[in-house]
Amino acid sequence: MNSLLNVKNIEVHYQGHRALDDVSFHINQGSLVSILGPSGCGKTTLLRAIAGFESITRGEIDLSHRCISRSGFTLPPEQRRIGMVFQDYALFPHLTVSENVSFGLRGLGKKEKTVIADSMLELVGLAQLGRRYPHELSGGQQQRVALARALAPKPDLILMDEPFSNLDVDLRERLSTEVRDILKHQGITGVLVTHDQNEAFAMADHIGVMQHGQLQQWDTPFNLYHEPANRFVADFIGKGIFLPGVMDSHEAIRTEIGLLQGNRAYPWGQGTEVDILIRPDDIVPNPNSGLRGRITAKAFKGAEILYTLKLETGSTVLSLFPSHMDHELGETVGVDLNLEHIVAFARPQRLSGC
Ligand code: ATP
Repeated sequence: MNSLLNVKNIEVHYQGHRALDDVSFHINQGSLVSILGPSGCGKTTLLRAIAGFESITRGEIDLSHRCISRSGFTLPPEQRRIGMVFQDYALFPHLTVSENVSFGLRGLGKKEKTVIADSMLELVGLAQLGRRYPHELSGGQQQRVALARALAPKPDLILMDEPFSNLDVDLRERLSTEVRDILKHQGITGVLVTHDQNEAFAMADHIGVMQHGQLQQWDTPFNLYHEPANRFVADFIGKGIFLPGVMDSHEAIRTEIGLLQGNRAYPWGQGTEVDILIRPDDIVPNPNSGLRGRITAKAFKGAEILYTLKLETGSTVLSLFPSHMDHELGETVGVDLNLEHIVAFARPQRLSGC
């Protein structure tokens, strides 16, 4: 695969504060990636550095094998062949939809511009709306126009900063899948910044999870969920709890619900205290099981119900039941542990003394 964007050990500082710290990753041509993380972790700063709106103080950014940023050099945004889509659409209210889409096309005649605008509007499913003004469109339609405008100059890369966050949940889901299909069909490489995991999961081939300006893990959605690299990612991605345990050997962990045999060797010796990541889909219903828990909370999810169970052994776990298994709060239900592999983290040592 051909690497299109190469971000190498970059740093960005704001008035002495390091907003990006040694961030590295690369994106292959045609790939869609998402940057995910809590508020203030540096997602927008990373996007702005790639777009050329922020200078980097260390490292290098290459696009199509050409250096576009390094310490002391920032290629201006308009020379980068990068398209951007923002949360607030940023359409010009006094221009028609068609004029908005063709706005960034320089050096072309009116007719050529109209032809490109028409084909872009067709691509995003708005072929009939070119003569309207932005205020005559719904939020979802305005965001499609913003996408058409960003795609019109045929950029090498498209950057999207929370593009769906002004839309309601149903539309967000629909539009994120639609936008993925459009970009994939056109072979366009894209970076989506979001703090919505579902959006990232729906759109991205790879996801970078950030915290405090650092990239914690760069991986497929599947691996982020099933093989989180550290405790932060395990906690941030998906739902789950940590079950305390003690290493019995390099492969087996003693817990309150029995000896759990892992399918891998852990680096910690016998007696090391660990926390085991238990996802809701790891705890499955079994009325005949000896492992029982009392329902302390319940959330209906459509096809499934997410129960919070206080186990008789002491810990609290989450469990997904098929939605027809409708139990009342306070009821006790039987469950089995259905772990395909065991993700565990050594428990941080508490400092002794006062
Ligand atoms: P959110 O999800 O809330 O949009 P984010 O992950 O996109 O957050 P950034 O906007 O990249 O975070 O901000 C990263 C850090 O840099 C934050 O601590 C923020 O306060 C700081 N920061 C961002 N822009 C500036 C600026 N222009 N001047 C000074 N500090 C800034």
